[in-house]
Amino acid sequence: MRFRDQRRSVSNAAGMQVTPRKSMGQNFLQDEEISRWIADQIVPDGADLVVEIGPGLGALTKHLVGRPKKLVLIEKDSQLAPELSEHFAGRDDVEVIHNDATRIDLRPWFRHGPVRLIGNLPYSVGGEILKHWLGMPSPVGSAVFMLQKEVCDRLAAKCGEDAYGALSLLVQKDWNVEMLRVVPPEVFKPKPKVDSAVIRLTPRDPATLPVFDHALFDRLVRMSFSQRRKQLKNLLPETPNGWEALVQHLSVSLTVRAEELSLEQWVQVARWYEERHEADAGQKASEMFDVVNERNEVIGKLTRGEVHQRKLLHRAVHIFVINKRGHIYLQQRSHLKDVSPLKWDSSAAGHLDAGEDYATAAVRELGEEIGIHVDTTDLAAQIPAGDNTDHEFVELRLARHDGPVRCLPEEIACGEWFRPEDITAWVDARPQDFAKGFVTCWKAWLSQA
Ligand code: SAM
Repeated sequence: MRFRDQRRSVSNAAGMQVTPRKSMGQNFLQDEEISRWIADQIVPDGADLVVEIGPGLGALTKHLVGRPKKLVLIEKDSQLAPELSEHFAGRDDVEVIHNDATRIDLRPWFRHGPVRLIGNLPYSVGGEILKHWLGMPSPVGSAVFMLQKEVCDRLAAKCGEDAYGALSLLVQKDWNVEMLRVVPPEVFKPKPKVDSAVIRLTPRDPATLPVFDHALFDRLVRMSFSQRRKQLKNLLPETPNGWEALVQHLSVSLTVRAEELSLEQWVQVARWYEERHEADAGQKASEMFDVVNERNEVIGKLTRGEVHQRKLLHRAVHIFVINKRGHIYLQQRSHLKDVSPLKWDSSAAGHLDAGEDYATAAVRELGEEIGIHVDTTDLAAQIPAGDNTDHEFVELRLARHDGPVRCLPEEIACGEWFRPEDITAWVDARPQDFAKGFVTCWKAWLSQA
């Protein structure tokens, strides 16, 4: 039990009272005008779902309630969470989750569509909350956060600014960051020692950067900013064609430091290490496929472009990769795909090459798309060609895998392991998030399970 120190305690108009805990980052906003203004920035009116992290005594919450169709409040404090639940008990449009926002499972949230996320974040774990909610794939469609101004400066900084560093790059490769407003310590109780600021994050259009291996980018950036005054040539691993060739490619000096390279240049560095020197190209319209008749018998060979344009029957394989927990890996297709860009799809999927059989194509696609090398896959379903498969005769095959997955960036934007029940709920709620062929495969698989 916690004893309340009346001199230090903070209360709200609804009679909730708490003695602020530093370990919980509890600095409660006291200014109505600023609270209302921050709530407005997430554009809550009519939204399907707004999620608030750390509602506390409800400074922002009271300006959000009743505006979206559903408001979810995530509060870790075991005194505040039950009080909030009691306070909103009569409302169907408000749900209180007593949980830690750095640990909550985000996978069930995809079924709600892009989530609008807001929070005057506990500064003690602000970084962890950002990492958890904004790491890819993320169900977040836009976020408005209040954090220490110094952290907001780092998140929003561009090359050449003092605050520019690893955090700026790791976030900005996936998110646009806008600094909205500085908030002084005086409007909180208890007063923090530093200024705060409000930022907005929205997903970056993936077409604004060439594709690159994100895990490699993260490793190189972290390594290079670990000693930011040191020259990059003494920090980065050996480059494939030598350091001089890389700096020449970037048009920078041999003695360049991490902070002197822009986001676009850092992406070039990652691509250099991947030996990815060609400009991004979409899929090759010249690839050859077998064309088949209504009995799935080969009747000729034509280019991909022609097969798709004339809606001719052809063949494709989908593979569900399952791990030992029974979770299935789903990929989000790259923006470079000519069919269903950025839609969610099977673990790996692709057309059969001319003369190839389904089982061989499955093993090849697993290796090429997600770096999984298996000898065989198991047949799970055969699906006839139709509108629901984009004129493909599809074989669905299964593979078991528990190790890491390495997505090919030009094929796949990102991926995640999902519980089958979460996939089913997501497909039911938002079939538009998925490639057509995947939805057909999923239903075929469920009907056999
Ligand atoms: N939204 C309120 C306001 O603006 O006055 C409170 C903001 S206060 C800075 C941070 C809130 O986050 C507190 O209510 C605290 O209990 C809660 N909190 C701290 N750590 C949390 C976590 N890991 N997950 C969810 N809530 C957390």
